[in-house]
Parts: sequence; structure tokens; C-alpha cells
Amino acid sequence: MFKSLTGKEPAAQVIENAKKEVAKMKRKPHLVIVLVGNDPASEIYVRKKLEKAESIGVRATLKKFDEKTSEKEVLALVCRLNEDDDVDGFIVQAPLPKQIDQNRVLDAIDPKKDVDGWTVANLGKLTAGMSDAYLPATPAGVMKMLEFYKVPLRGKHAVVVGRSNVVGKPMALLLLAKDATVTICHSKTQNLANHTRNADVIVAAAGNPKLITADMVKEGAFIIDVGTTKVGDKTVGDVDYENVIKKANCSPVPGGVGPMTVAMLISNVLDVAKRQRR
Ligand code: NAP
Repeated sequence: MFKSLTGKEPAAQVIENAKKEVAKMKRKPHLVIVLVGNDPASEIYVRKKLEKAESIGVRATLKKFDEKTSEKEVLALVCRLNEDDDVDGFIVQAPLPKQIDQNRVLDAIDPKKDVDGWTVANLGKLTAGMSDAYLPATPAGVMKMLEFYKVPLRGKHAVVVGRSNVVGKPMALLLLAKDATVTICHSKTQNLANHTRNADVIVAAAGNPKLITADMVKEGAFIIDVGTTKVGDKTVGDVDYENVIKKANCSPVPGGVGPMTVAMLISNVLDVAKRQRR
């Protein structure tokens, strides 16, 4: 049996460090989460983020808007949060309802308060290899998992499945920064298996249940499954975990990347608080 790359232990390590740092701070950092609409998955993610932040002593506030809220109203709140000295960092939970231009809203966030690392400024810094970029929480969490499980990256072939601005592209850049040779695949990629079969490391972020099957992976490879799709009452990953784990090391869904995303968000909040108050 190969190793199940669970997120629980590396996430606990990040959270434990964060707890110690918060305990030393005179002023507790303040995270705000903006949630627009009633997407059930978003509500669960937001609740987990708020609970985890509060459990380690970070002040966490939810600003909730209903489904029909206009872009103007959300942008007005973003401006207020940018100006509010008592707010260290904030996120606007994606996806936003159709009437709102998500890119416009996310990019209105002050890059210094952008704890999700989704602004063009922070993504640009990441692309340029600048060390003061705030990193998107999910790809940063995957990197922490790879580090925790001592997965070799230098000179290895990594395949990222998915090219979104929030997961796939930053993921590829972070792997590249660790000297992996990176291939990015997407929905127009021809013969995905030809790429994944040659990979030492696969990060699957397509949102396509069981897209990666055992015949598509190299024996002993390391596979991180970012995908989460609701199928009935279950959350299903992009990897056929039950069969792939017989051939390669693989992260489960749930219990893999999810806890890492929350932990890295908290870590970013502390980072922002330390930099702003220095
Ligand atoms: P997204 O914006 O929908 O992007 C999905 C990407 O996957 C796109 O680039 C798409 O290609 C590609 N893709 C779709 N089907 C494919 C296929 N059959 N073969 C190859 N590539 C394919 O999604 P996202 O925001 O990046 O998120 C990806 C997944 O991760 C989702 O399931 C999301 O729920 C999950 N997620 C989980 C966490 C967590 O904490 N666990 C955090 C964030 C996201 P095109 O560009 O060609 O359309």
C-alpha cells in the first residue's frame, strides 16, 4: 500500500505555529470574510475558516450579502475594508453571483490585505518570483503538504491539471520555483494520460470527479487531489483514490487539501498582521 497524503497533520502543524504566534501578539489580528449569496459549499468553507480563525485567537468577522446584491455594493464594502485600520486582511469568497464581475471585485482588494493572494498584484509578484507575494492559500497548502511528506521536486516532472488563476496557474509557478519541470494540462489537452503517466508529481485541480484513474499514473508517483465536486451528499475528488492508492501515494478527498487551504489562509492573516504593524 502506498502512502495516503492526508492534510490533517501538516495543517495541524501550521495551525499550532499560528496559535503560538497569536498568543505572543498584544493586538489580535482581524480577518473579515465577505460572502455573497447562499452557495451551500461556500457557506461550509466560510464557516470552517471563521471557526478555525477564532479557535486560535484571530478575530473573525463575517459580512454577508444576499444573492441579488449589486457589484457596486460589494465594491463599496471592499473599499471600506481596504481603508479600515482595524482589518488586517480580508477575503471575498468565490464564486460570486452572475451579476458581479469576480475579477473586478477581487482586484479591488488592497494587495496588502489580500490574504487569499488573488489580486493581480500578488499573482504578478508570484510570477516574478518576489518573496513578498501573498500566496493563494490552496496552492500554498499543496506546497506545504509536499514539503511535509518530503516529496522530491527538484528536476522532477510535475503535471498540474487545471489552469485557473486561483489554483492551476499559481500551483505551476510554485512547483517551478522549486525547480520541478512543470506541464500544465487543461480541458483542451489532448491525451491527458500521456502527460500524467510520465509525472513524478500530479496536482489535480479540474473539478472533474475521478478524472485521474490508476492507469493514468506512474507507480510510486505523488498525487495531490485538489478537486472537490458535490455528487449527491458526497464530496468527490478528481482522483479515483481507491484504485490509485494501490499504485501511488495520493491525498484523499475529503481530508486532504481542504484543511491545508484553511491553515494557509490563517497563516497569511498572521503574516499580513505582522507586516502591517511592524
Ligand atoms: P476552475 O476555475 O473551474 O478550473 C478548472 C480547470 O480544470 C480549468 O482550467 C479547466 O480547463 C480544467 N479542466 C476541467 N476539466 C478538465 C479535464 N477533463 N481535463 C483537463 N483539465 C480539465 O476551478 P478551480 O477554481 O481551479 O478549482 C478546481 C477544483 O478545485 C474544483 O473542484 C474546486 O472545487 C477545487 N478547489 C478545492 C479547494 C480546497 O480547498 N480543497 C480550493 C479551491 C478549489 P479549461 O481552462 O480549459 O476550462
